[in-house]
Amino acid sequence: MEKKIVLLPGDGIGKEIMESAKKVLAAIESEYHHRFILQECAIGGDALDRYGVPLPDDTLHACNEADAVLLGSVGGPKWDNQPPEFRPEKGLLGIRKGLGLFANLRPVKTFPALLHASPLKEEIVKDSDMMIVRELTGGLYFGEPSERRNNGEDVVDTLAYSRHEIERIVEKGFESAQIRNKHLTSVDKANVLESSRVWREIVNEKATDYPDVKVEHLLVDAAAMKLITNPSGFDVVVTENLFGDILSDEASVLTGSLGMLPSASVRTDGLGMYEPVHGSAPDIAGKGIANPIGMILSTALMLEYSLGMQEEAKAIESAVMDCLEQGYHTADLKIKDGKQMSTDEITEAIIENLTTKCISDSICSSYV
Ligand code: NAD
Repeated sequence: MEKKIVLLPGDGIGKEIMESAKKVLAAIESEYHHRFILQECAIGGDALDRYGVPLPDDTLHACNEADAVLLGSVGGPKWDNQPPEFRPEKGLLGIRKGLGLFANLRPVKTFPALLHASPLKEEIVKDSDMMIVRELTGGLYFGEPSERRNNGEDVVDTLAYSRHEIERIVEKGFESAQIRNKHLTSVDKANVLESSRVWREIVNEKATDYPDVKVEHLLVDAAAMKLITNPSGFDVVVTENLFGDILSDEASVLTGSLGMLPSASVRTDGLGMYEPVHGSAPDIAGKGIANPIGMILSTALMLEYSLGMQEEAKAIESAVMDCLEQGYHTADLKIKDGKQMSTDEITEAIIENLTTKCISDSICSSYV
Protein backbone atom coordinates (compact mmCIF):
# COMPACT_ATOMS: atom_id res chain seq x y z
CA MET A 1 0.00 0.00 0.00
CA GLU A 2 1.08 3.59 -0.58
CA LYS A 3 -0.03 6.18 2.00
CA LYS A 4 0.69 9.87 2.51
CA ILE A 5 1.40 10.92 6.10
CA VAL A 6 2.00 14.46 7.33
CA LEU A 7 4.40 14.69 10.29
CA LEU A 8 4.08 17.61 12.71
CA PRO A 9 6.99 17.28 15.20
CA GLY A 10 6.18 20.57 16.99
CA ASP A 11 8.19 21.59 20.04
CA GLY A 12 10.32 20.21 22.88
CA ILE A 13 10.40 16.41 23.01
CA GLY A 14 7.91 16.37 20.09
CA LYS A 15 10.87 16.53 17.70
CA GLU A 16 12.76 13.71 19.47
CA ILE A 17 9.87 11.25 19.67
CA MET A 18 8.88 11.97 16.05
CA GLU A 19 12.27 10.56 15.04
CA SER A 20 11.25 7.33 16.84
CA ALA A 21 7.94 7.25 14.92
CA LYS A 22 9.82 7.69 11.62
CA LYS A 23 12.11 4.74 12.41
CA VAL A 24 9.12 2.53 13.29
CA LEU A 25 7.35 3.53 10.07
CA ALA A 26 10.50 2.67 8.09
CA ALA A 27 10.58 -0.75 9.75
CA ILE A 28 6.90 -1.35 8.88
CA GLU A 29 7.58 -0.25 5.29
CA SER A 30 10.33 -2.78 4.85
CA GLU A 31 8.68 -5.65 6.78
CA TYR A 32 5.27 -5.31 5.12
CA HIS A 33 6.29 -3.81 1.76
CA HIS A 34 4.32 -0.60 2.06
CA ARG A 35 5.37 2.86 0.94
CA PHE A 36 4.84 5.83 3.24
CA ILE A 37 5.24 9.27 1.68
CA LEU A 38 6.18 11.49 4.61
CA GLN A 39 5.84 15.29 4.56
CA GLU A 40 7.11 17.26 7.55
CA CYS A 41 5.30 20.54 8.36
CA ALA A 42 5.52 23.21 11.06
CA ILE A 43 3.08 23.76 13.94
CA GLY A 44 3.12 25.42 17.39
CA GLY A 45 6.17 27.31 18.62
CA ASP A 46 8.28 25.92 15.78
CA ALA A 47 5.83 27.51 13.27
CA LEU A 48 5.76 30.77 15.25
CA ASP A 49 9.55 30.99 15.06
CA ARG A 50 9.72 30.15 11.38
CA TYR A 51 6.55 31.71 9.96
CA GLY A 52 5.12 34.02 12.65
CA VAL A 53 1.89 32.01 13.10
CA PRO A 54 1.17 28.83 15.12
CA LEU A 55 -0.63 27.13 12.20
CA PRO A 56 0.59 28.09 8.71
CA ASP A 57 -1.94 27.68 5.86
CA ASP A 58 0.47 25.31 4.12
CA THR A 59 0.40 22.96 7.13
CA LEU A 60 -3.39 22.82 7.21
CA HIS A 61 -3.54 22.31 3.45
CA ALA A 62 -1.00 19.46 3.55
CA CYS A 63 -2.91 17.75 6.38
CA ASN A 64 -6.19 17.98 4.47
CA GLU A 65 -4.53 16.27 1.47
CA ALA A 66 -3.00 13.44 3.54
CA ASP A 67 -4.26 9.99 4.56
CA ALA A 68 -3.26 10.66 8.17
CA VAL A 69 -1.41 13.12 10.39
CA LEU A 70 1.10 12.37 13.19
CA LEU A 71 1.71 15.08 15.79
CA GLY A 72 4.47 15.27 18.42
CA SER A 73 3.60 18.00 20.92
CA VAL A 74 3.49 21.79 21.06
CA GLY A 75 4.31 24.50 23.59
CA GLY A 76 7.07 25.59 25.91
CA PRO A 77 8.20 28.42 28.19
CA LYS A 78 9.72 30.34 25.26
CA TRP A 79 6.22 31.24 24.03
CA ASP A 80 4.36 31.40 27.37
CA ASN A 81 4.11 35.20 27.44
CA GLN A 82 2.83 35.59 23.88
CA PRO A 83 -0.66 37.04 23.33
CA PRO A 84 -3.35 34.27 23.01
CA GLU A 85 -3.40 34.40 19.18
CA PHE A 86 0.34 33.73 19.09
CA ARG A 87 0.53 30.83 21.53
CA PRO A 88 1.63 27.39 20.23
CA GLU A 89 -1.55 25.78 21.66
CA LYS A 90 -3.58 27.95 19.27
CA GLY A 91 -2.08 25.86 16.47
CA LEU A 92 -3.41 22.70 18.07
CA LEU A 93 -6.96 24.00 18.49
CA GLY A 94 -6.77 25.45 14.96
CA ILE A 95 -5.76 22.20 13.31
CA ARG A 96 -8.44 20.15 15.13
CA LYS A 97 -11.06 22.67 14.01
CA GLY A 98 -9.59 23.16 10.52
CA LEU A 99 -9.63 19.42 9.85
CA GLY A 100 -13.12 18.94 11.38
CA LEU A 101 -11.88 16.30 13.84
CA PHE A 102 -14.93 15.64 16.02
CA ALA A 103 -14.05 12.39 17.79
CA ASN A 104 -11.22 11.86 20.23
CA LEU A 105 -10.17 8.25 20.79
CA ARG A 106 -8.07 7.40 23.83
CA PRO A 107 -7.06 3.81 24.40
CA VAL A 108 -5.98 3.08 27.97
CA LYS A 109 -4.34 -0.28 28.49
CA THR A 110 -2.22 -1.49 31.37
CA PHE A 111 1.10 -3.19 30.74
CA PRO A 112 1.87 -6.20 33.00
CA ALA A 113 5.48 -5.02 33.47
CA LEU A 114 4.27 -1.63 34.74
CA LEU A 115 1.38 -2.61 37.02
CA HIS A 116 3.41 -1.56 40.07
CA ALA A 117 3.56 2.04 38.75
CA SER A 118 -0.23 2.49 38.82
CA PRO A 119 -1.71 4.52 41.70
CA LEU A 120 -4.31 1.72 42.01
CA LYS A 121 -3.72 -1.73 43.50
CA GLU A 122 -2.38 -4.20 40.95
CA GLU A 123 -5.32 -6.58 41.35
CA ILE A 124 -7.76 -3.75 40.53
CA VAL A 125 -5.96 -2.26 37.55
CA LYS A 126 -4.68 -5.45 35.90
CA ASP A 127 -6.41 -6.43 32.62
CA SER A 128 -7.75 -2.89 32.12
CA ASP A 129 -8.10 -2.27 28.40
CA MET A 130 -10.54 0.43 27.35
CA MET A 131 -11.15 2.98 24.64
CA ILE A 132 -12.66 6.34 25.55
CA VAL A 133 -14.50 8.00 22.65
CA ARG A 134 -15.03 11.69 23.43
CA GLU A 135 -16.99 14.29 21.44
CA LEU A 136 -14.55 17.08 20.65
CA THR A 137 -16.24 20.00 18.91
CA GLY A 138 -19.53 20.68 20.73
CA GLY A 139 -21.07 20.96 24.19
CA LEU A 140 -20.15 23.32 26.96
CA TYR A 141 -16.75 24.32 25.54
CA PHE A 142 -18.22 25.83 22.39
CA GLY A 143 -21.85 26.78 23.25
CA GLU A 144 -22.98 30.41 22.97
CA PRO A 145 -23.58 32.52 24.96
CA SER A 146 -20.57 32.05 27.23
CA GLU A 147 -20.13 35.33 29.10
CA ARG A 148 -20.14 37.35 32.32
CA ARG A 149 -23.19 39.49 32.89
CA ASN A 150 -24.35 42.18 35.24
CA ASN A 151 -20.82 43.51 35.90
CA GLY A 152 -19.55 40.02 36.60
CA GLU A 153 -22.22 39.24 39.20
CA ASP A 154 -23.70 36.55 36.94
CA VAL A 155 -22.13 34.15 34.50
CA VAL A 156 -23.44 31.77 31.83
CA ASP A 157 -22.01 28.92 29.75
CA THR A 158 -24.14 27.00 27.27
CA LEU A 159 -24.29 23.24 26.70
CA ALA A 160 -25.58 22.88 23.15
CA TYR A 161 -25.59 19.92 20.76
CA SER A 162 -27.33 19.25 17.46
CA ARG A 163 -28.81 15.77 16.82
CA HIS A 164 -26.29 15.33 14.00
CA GLU A 165 -23.35 15.98 16.35
CA ILE A 166 -24.59 13.41 18.85
CA GLU A 167 -25.43 10.82 16.20
CA ARG A 168 -21.98 10.87 14.57
CA ILE A 169 -20.06 10.47 17.85
CA VAL A 170 -22.42 7.74 19.07
CA GLU A 171 -21.88 5.91 15.77
CA LYS A 172 -18.11 6.20 16.30
CA GLY A 173 -18.60 4.63 19.75
CA PHE A 174 -20.58 1.70 18.31
CA GLU A 175 -18.05 1.20 15.50
CA SER A 176 -15.19 1.15 18.01
CA ALA A 177 -17.06 -1.40 20.15
CA GLN A 178 -17.65 -3.58 17.09
CA ILE A 179 -13.92 -3.90 16.40
CA ARG A 180 -13.15 -4.46 20.11
CA ASN A 181 -15.11 -6.49 22.68
CA LYS A 182 -18.61 -5.33 21.65
CA HIS A 183 -19.46 -3.62 24.92
CA LEU A 184 -20.38 0.07 24.83
CA THR A 185 -20.82 2.20 27.95
CA SER A 186 -22.59 5.48 27.21
CA VAL A 187 -21.89 8.08 29.90
CA ASP A 188 -24.30 10.95 30.57
CA LYS A 189 -26.09 12.84 33.34
CA ALA A 190 -29.62 11.97 32.22
CA ASN A 191 -31.03 12.34 35.74
CA VAL A 192 -30.37 16.11 35.57
CA LEU A 193 -29.53 17.38 32.07
CA GLU A 194 -31.93 17.60 29.12
CA SER A 195 -28.97 17.30 26.71
CA SER A 196 -28.11 13.98 28.37
CA ARG A 197 -31.70 12.72 28.02
CA VAL A 198 -31.55 13.42 24.26
CA TRP A 199 -28.09 11.78 24.17
CA ARG A 200 -29.50 8.63 25.83
CA GLU A 201 -32.47 8.51 23.40
CA ILE A 202 -30.09 8.68 20.44
CA VAL A 203 -27.86 5.92 21.87
CA ASN A 204 -30.93 3.69 22.25
CA GLU A 205 -32.10 4.46 18.69
CA LYS A 206 -28.66 3.71 17.24
CA ALA A 207 -28.35 0.49 19.25
CA THR A 208 -30.80 -1.20 16.86
CA ASP A 209 -28.24 -0.69 14.03
CA TYR A 210 -25.56 -2.52 16.03
CA PRO A 211 -27.31 -5.60 17.48
CA ASP A 212 -23.99 -7.31 18.19
CA VAL A 213 -22.98 -4.56 20.66
CA LYS A 214 -24.14 -4.70 24.28
CA VAL A 215 -25.08 -1.21 25.53
CA GLU A 216 -24.91 0.05 29.10
CA HIS A 217 -25.86 3.56 30.32
CA LEU A 218 -23.90 5.03 33.21
CA LEU A 219 -24.22 8.39 34.95
CA VAL A 220 -20.97 10.33 34.84
CA ASP A 221 -20.51 10.26 38.63
CA ALA A 222 -20.90 6.46 38.66
CA ALA A 223 -18.51 6.20 35.68
CA ALA A 224 -15.85 8.21 37.57
CA MET A 225 -16.17 5.81 40.51
CA LYS A 226 -16.10 2.67 38.36
CA LEU A 227 -12.91 3.91 36.67
CA ILE A 228 -11.03 3.59 39.94
CA THR A 229 -12.87 0.64 41.47
CA ASN A 230 -13.32 -1.65 38.45
CA PRO A 231 -11.51 -0.21 35.40
CA SER A 232 -11.27 -3.61 33.70
CA GLY A 233 -15.10 -3.58 33.51
CA PHE A 234 -14.98 -1.10 30.59
CA ASP A 235 -14.50 -1.83 26.90
CA VAL A 236 -15.59 1.27 24.93
CA VAL A 237 -16.88 4.42 26.66
CA VAL A 238 -18.67 7.07 24.58
CA THR A 239 -19.45 10.47 26.03
CA GLU A 240 -19.81 14.19 25.36
CA ASN A 241 -17.02 16.77 25.44
CA LEU A 242 -16.80 17.88 29.09
CA PHE A 243 -17.42 14.43 30.63
CA GLY A 244 -14.92 12.91 28.17
CA ASP A 245 -12.27 15.49 28.98
CA ILE A 246 -12.43 14.68 32.68
CA LEU A 247 -12.86 10.90 32.44
CA SER A 248 -10.09 10.45 29.87
CA ASP A 249 -7.62 12.30 32.09
CA GLU A 250 -8.72 10.25 35.09
CA ALA A 251 -8.24 7.06 33.06
CA SER A 252 -4.83 8.18 31.79
CA VAL A 253 -3.20 7.92 35.22
CA LEU A 254 -4.18 4.25 35.56
CA THR A 255 -1.22 3.08 33.49
CA GLY A 256 1.29 4.85 35.72
CA SER A 257 3.06 7.01 33.13
CA LEU A 258 2.00 9.86 30.89
CA GLY A 259 4.67 8.87 28.38
CA MET A 260 2.87 5.63 27.43
CA LEU A 261 -0.47 6.92 26.15
CA PRO A 262 -1.55 7.38 22.53
CA SER A 263 -4.58 9.26 21.25
CA ALA A 264 -6.40 10.01 18.02
CA SER A 265 -8.76 12.68 16.75
CA VAL A 266 -10.73 11.57 13.72
CA ARG A 267 -13.52 12.60 11.36
CA THR A 268 -16.08 10.56 9.41
CA ASP A 269 -14.05 9.97 6.22
CA GLY A 270 -11.25 8.26 8.18
CA LEU A 271 -8.72 11.11 8.23
CA GLY A 272 -7.24 11.33 11.70
CA MET A 273 -4.55 13.11 13.66
CA TYR A 274 -2.60 10.88 16.04
CA GLU A 275 -0.55 12.13 18.99
CA PRO A 276 0.69 11.10 22.44
CA VAL A 277 -1.42 12.61 25.24
CA HIS A 278 1.55 14.26 26.96
CA GLY A 279 2.96 17.73 26.26
CA SER A 280 6.36 18.96 25.06
CA ALA A 281 8.05 18.21 28.44
CA PRO A 282 10.41 21.23 28.39
CA ASP A 283 12.11 19.95 31.56
CA ILE A 284 13.65 16.99 29.70
CA ALA A 285 13.69 18.30 26.09
CA GLY A 286 17.06 17.90 24.33
CA LYS A 287 18.35 15.33 26.84
CA GLY A 288 17.53 12.29 24.71
CA ILE A 289 15.63 10.59 27.55
CA ALA A 290 11.98 11.12 26.54
CA ASN A 291 9.77 8.04 26.50
CA PRO A 292 8.77 7.52 22.83
CA ILE A 293 6.19 4.77 23.57
CA GLY A 294 3.12 7.09 23.56
CA MET A 295 4.26 8.32 20.13
CA ILE A 296 5.00 4.82 18.84
CA LEU A 297 1.59 3.55 20.02
CA SER A 298 -0.01 6.61 18.36
CA THR A 299 1.69 5.47 15.15
CA ALA A 300 0.14 2.01 15.65
CA LEU A 301 -3.28 3.60 16.24
CA MET A 302 -2.88 5.55 12.99
CA LEU A 303 -2.09 2.38 11.05
CA GLU A 304 -5.16 0.67 12.56
CA TYR A 305 -7.76 3.42 12.34
CA SER A 306 -6.79 5.57 9.32
CA LEU A 307 -4.65 3.32 7.12
CA GLY A 308 -6.43 -0.05 7.44
CA MET A 309 -3.28 -1.86 8.64
CA GLN A 310 -4.57 -3.84 11.64
CA GLU A 311 -1.89 -6.54 11.49
CA GLU A 312 0.92 -3.98 11.39
CA ALA A 313 -0.60 -2.08 14.33
CA LYS A 314 -0.79 -5.27 16.39
CA ALA A 315 2.83 -6.08 15.57
CA ILE A 316 3.95 -2.68 16.92
CA GLU A 317 1.87 -3.07 20.09
CA SER A 318 3.26 -6.50 20.79
CA ALA A 319 6.84 -5.30 20.12
CA VAL A 320 6.31 -2.57 22.76
CA MET A 321 4.88 -5.13 25.19
CA ASP A 322 7.82 -7.50 24.60
CA CYS A 323 10.31 -4.69 25.15
CA LEU A 324 8.80 -3.88 28.56
CA GLU A 325 8.67 -7.58 29.47
CA GLN A 326 12.41 -7.74 28.66
CA GLY A 327 12.87 -5.02 31.30
CA TYR A 328 13.78 -2.17 28.93
CA HIS A 329 12.43 1.21 30.00
CA THR A 330 13.06 4.96 29.88
CA ALA A 331 13.83 7.18 32.90
CA ASP A 332 10.16 7.99 33.59
CA LEU A 333 9.41 4.27 34.17
CA LYS A 334 10.81 1.90 36.72
CA ILE A 335 11.00 -1.84 36.10
CA LYS A 336 12.55 -4.01 38.80
CA ASP A 337 15.95 -5.32 37.64
CA GLY A 338 15.29 -3.60 34.31
CA LYS A 339 17.63 -1.67 32.03
CA GLN A 340 17.15 2.08 31.64
CA MET A 341 17.55 3.31 28.08
CA SER A 342 17.65 6.54 26.08
CA THR A 343 14.93 7.48 23.57
CA ASP A 344 17.02 6.12 20.69
CA GLU A 345 17.98 2.91 22.46
CA ILE A 346 14.44 1.93 23.43
CA THR A 347 13.24 2.77 19.92
CA GLU A 348 15.86 0.38 18.52
CA ALA A 349 14.84 -2.29 21.06
CA ILE A 350 11.20 -2.00 19.97
CA ILE A 351 12.19 -2.22 16.30
CA GLU A 352 14.37 -5.25 17.05
CA ASN A 353 11.35 -6.98 18.63
CA LEU A 354 9.15 -5.93 15.72
CA THR A 355 11.41 -7.33 13.04
CA THR A 356 12.29 -10.49 14.99
CA LYS A 357 8.60 -11.18 15.59
CA CYS A 358 7.85 -10.65 11.92
CA ILE A 359 10.48 -13.20 10.90
CA SER A 360 9.57 -15.81 13.56
CA ASP A 361 5.80 -15.55 13.07
CA SER A 362 6.08 -15.20 9.28
CA ILE A 363 3.18 -12.76 9.64
CA CYS A 364 4.74 -10.55 7.00
CA SER A 365 5.37 -13.19 4.37
CA SER A 366 1.85 -12.97 2.97
CA TYR A 367 2.53 -9.34 2.10
CA VAL A 368 5.61 -10.13 -0.05
P1 NAD B 1 3.94 17.60 29.93
O1 NAD B 1 3.07 16.48 29.54
O2 NAD B 1 4.77 18.19 28.86
O3 NAD B 1 4.92 17.14 31.14
C1 NAD B 1 4.45 16.74 32.42
C2 NAD B 1 5.54 15.88 33.10
O4 NAD B 1 5.59 14.60 32.46
C3 NAD B 1 6.95 16.48 32.96
O5 NAD B 1 7.68 16.22 34.12
C4 NAD B 1 7.55 15.71 31.79
O6 NAD B 1 8.97 15.61 31.83
C5 NAD B 1 6.88 14.36 31.91
N1 NAD B 1 6.69 13.74 30.60
C6 NAD B 1 5.75 14.04 29.67
N2 NAD B 1 5.90 13.30 28.58
C7 NAD B 1 6.96 12.50 28.80
C8 NAD B 1 7.62 11.51 28.03
N3 NAD B 1 7.21 11.17 26.79
N4 NAD B 1 8.70 10.89 28.56
C9 NAD B 1 9.13 11.18 29.80
N5 NAD B 1 8.55 12.11 30.60
C10 NAD B 1 7.47 12.77 30.08
O7 NAD B 1 2.98 18.72 30.57
P2 NAD B 1 3.32 20.21 31.06
O8 NAD B 1 4.67 20.25 31.67
O9 NAD B 1 2.14 20.64 31.82
O10 NAD B 1 3.34 21.08 29.72
C11 NAD B 1 4.54 21.43 29.00
C12 NAD B 1 4.14 22.12 27.70
O11 NAD B 1 3.42 21.21 26.87
C13 NAD B 1 3.22 23.33 27.91
O12 NAD B 1 3.63 24.34 27.03
C14 NAD B 1 1.83 22.81 27.56
O13 NAD B 1 0.99 23.80 27.06
C15 NAD B 1 2.19 21.81 26.45
N6 NAD B 1 1.20 20.74 26.25
C16 NAD B 1 1.02 20.34 24.97
C17 NAD B 1 0.16 19.27 24.71
C18 NAD B 1 0.04 18.80 23.28
O14 NAD B 1 0.86 19.17 22.46
N7 NAD B 1 -0.95 18.00 22.95
C19 NAD B 1 -0.49 18.61 25.75
C20 NAD B 1 -0.25 19.03 27.08
C21 NAD B 1 0.61 20.09 27.31
